[in-house]
Amino acid sequence: MRRVSLLGATGSVGTSAAEVLAADPGRFAVHLVTARNDAAGLAAAARRLRAERAVIADPAALPALREALAGTSTEAAGGPDALEEAAGERVDIVLSAIVGAAGLRPTAAAVRAGNAIALANKECLVCAGSAFMALARRHGATVLPVDSEHNALFQLLEGRDPADIASFTITASGGPFRGWDAGRLAAATPAEALAHPTWSMGPKISIDSATLMNKGLELIEAHHLFAIPPERLDVIVHPQSVVHGLVTFRDGSVHAEIGAPDMKRPIAFCLYWPQRARTTASRLDLVKVGRLAFEDPDEGRFPALRLAREALRTGQGAPTVLNAANEIAVASFLAGGIGFPGIAELVERTLADADRSGLLVDPGSIDDAIALDREARERAERTLDKVLAVAS
Ligand code: NAD
Ligand code: MG
Repeated sequence: MRRVSLLGATGSVGTSAAEVLAADPGRFAVHLVTARNDAAGLAAAARRLRAERAVIADPAALPALREALAGTSTEAAGGPDALEEAAGERVDIVLSAIVGAAGLRPTAAAVRAGNAIALANKECLVCAGSAFMALARRHGATVLPVDSEHNALFQLLEGRDPADIASFTITASGGPFRGWDAGRLAAATPAEALAHPTWSMGPKISIDSATLMNKGLELIEAHHLFAIPPERLDVIVHPQSVVHGLVTFRDGSVHAEIGAPDMKRPIAFCLYWPQRARTTASRLDLVKVGRLAFEDPDEGRFPALRLAREALRTGQGAPTVLNAANEIAVASFLAGGIGFPGIAELVERTLADADRSGLLVDPGSIDDAIALDREARERAERTLDKVLAVAS
């Protein structure tokens, strides 16, 4: 039996993870499920997985959670502190599928308990990469990447000498706006941006996929997970999302990990690791896919990718600020505030603002990263207010 805590159980990754766990009840015992404020969804996950505990971040949703769990033996709690504490309990593996830097505190708590971490929450690593990986090393916590491209690289690296690898490539679908010109991009709506061609995901990462910020965040994620220098990391656009990651060996040989675009596969890979299990994930039918295409990303039309690459090269506090500003920008775009090009613009302005104020120093600890994240959000909000005032 493997004891599992599932952080972000009501989301897209959380729901796919629940499917993997529920399919093998003899193998997994679910200790904890968590969510932000969806009491009904959290209670449904807790019932389905027979979770021992369910914790909701928003304390106002606790009464509804208690009511929805009536008649079960699941223990309910509410509030961010209760969530962090529960995430810090010792189990065998914690799947971190909270979206955004909000996942940092609970995931760090899970690391401090020495738990193995199946990490979907990439913002954690963008916000606090060095501190997070150092914490994991200190506490002997294995970090297994759920993100499909990083899961691919992890699989390609297993049993290899990293010194034999010349470069690493992750693929991008190109998102729903691949091939759109600047005029169309300027008028792109949230509904259009949410309609991803190959993956079905939560709203934040869907917008990040449309701007290509997601791929930028993933470069930073890969840099921290595998200690890859920025100049040996590349992105290639591959609209079919069948090839997820590639490594090029010193001798020129290229190995790729390929599979149908279904998150259940990397999720199961992490939950069962180091074993392999039979899963219900979609199977790849290469004949049906027919042909695989590849092209370079266009950083002119998709400046978010350029900004993330620059932040990766700058290092220090730049990725933390980039991530915080992006979260503010995406929320505003989704709420009908700024337009699509405004997302990258707000990120760029916030980075320049933080740089002028000397804020781009290395967050040496998780707490430093959280403090810089907060400061960057406040600055992004202030700039956003000005942008929206001018626009109205
Ligand atoms: P989602 O929006 O569908 O779900 C997010 C989950 O986090 C929900 O359970 C929500 O209740 C919880 N949550 C949100 N804010 C919270 C807060 N402040 N405190 C506590 N809990 C909170 O998101 P998703 O698409 O499942 O993505 C989750 C993470 O996995 C993201 O970091 C994303 O980048 C990454 N990821 C997702 C996919 C995918 O296919 N969806 C693929 C790769 C990586
Ligand atoms: Mg990915």
